[in-house]
Amino acid sequence: MLELIASGRNLPENERMLQIRHNVSLKDYTSWLVGGEAEYFCLPETEADLEEALRFALTENIPWTVLSGGTNVLVSDQGIKGLVICLRRLSGVQVQESPDFVRLECLSGTGKSELLKIFLKQKLAPALFLAGIPGDVGGGVVMNAGVAESFRPREFHEIIEWVEVLRVEGDQLRRVRLKKDDIQWSYRHSTGWQPGVVVKAGLIWENKPEPDILQKVRDANKVRLSKQPLDLPSCGSVFVNPPGHKSAQLIDGCGLKGYQVGGAQVSLKHANFIVNVGGAKASDILSVIEHVQKTVKAQKGVDLHTEVIKLGLF
Ligand SMILES: Cc1cc2nc3c(=O)[nH]c(=O)nc-3n(C[C@H](O)[C@H](O)[C@H](O)COP(=O)(O)OP(=O)(O)OC[C@H]3O[C@@H](n4cnc5c(N)ncnc54)[C@H](O)[C@@H]3O)c2cc1C
Repeated sequence: MLELIASGRNLPENERMLQIRHNVSLKDYTSWLVGGEAEYFCLPETEADLEEALRFALTENIPWTVLSGGTNVLVSDQGIKGLVICLRRLSGVQVQESPDFVRLECLSGTGKSELLKIFLKQKLAPALFLAGIPGDVGGGVVMNAGVAESFRPREFHEIIEWVEVLRVEGDQLRRVRLKKDDIQWSYRHSTGWQPGVVVKAGLIWENKPEPDILQKVRDANKVRLSKQPLDLPSCGSVFVNPPGHKSAQLIDGCGLKGYQVGGAQVSLKHANFIVNVGGAKASDILSVIEHVQKTVKAQKGVDLHTEVIKLGLF
């Protein structure tokens, strides 16, 4: 059942409804705490809700955009036209354990922190890399999220068995289950599942408990806390590492730590983080990004490309 708040359509009260709201600020749905309004916005809680949301966009012939944890996006101050489908309530995990493997079936809005809890309880190695990455399962699949440390596993694709996608084909929706190898995984990117929305993912890991995993997670968190500005709103690393280089070293080497426009600053702690020191706008962050790119190109001859995804009108 779909309730379009803007139209005031009346539907029976005893039926749970997907609410599609008008002009909703996206600030609180992004870890940078910036961004304008979604023209239309919804928070599906079930797979049926998600399908309904997409059908709404297709029927109304409006663009649609997916937002999950919002920890790797820069949403424009001008907002996003069409429907923003925020998946953070589409969450839930089922765990299946055999002597050889532990399998997790996760809805895409499940927080990685939930996975962390499960892998920690099972004392399994994926806990170690998951502890370093915020956001949700869907965002992890899309970004092939991972950490720089030489952990095993260290990237999302290493724990994936399959991915279920609601494919958008013209004005039709089709549910497909892709095996891990049907998807091309690269550094902070995955292709082969588009166009559509990642609905579910099946994760798998060998059932070989590591008794000291909790201590390893604690140690890794301590290191992370000492190196990253986790006390300020950010999107983590803004730029991917160019082949043969570390973006943070290049930026630091250009003396850009502390460079600031409005409320957006190149972190004093980690040069590849841009932090919101208070009242930043998306345009401030974009100005800092562009200045960093220009300076690194001029001084080091290297092109920096963003890991962060721009959403909306720029
Ligand atoms: C403090 C901090 C530290 C971080 N450290 C790391 C790190 O160590 N390693 C790392 O890889 N990342 C890191 N990140 C970045 C971010 O957490 C990851 O990229 C994360 O996987 C993004 O997930 P999300 O749910 O927030 O996705 P979002 O930011 O909501 O979305 C990211 C992109 O995926 C698309 N998308 C999201 N879900 C779906 C879906 N279900 N179907 C289709 N498209 C979808 C969105 O449209 C968008 O284009 C960090 C971020 C922060 C704030």
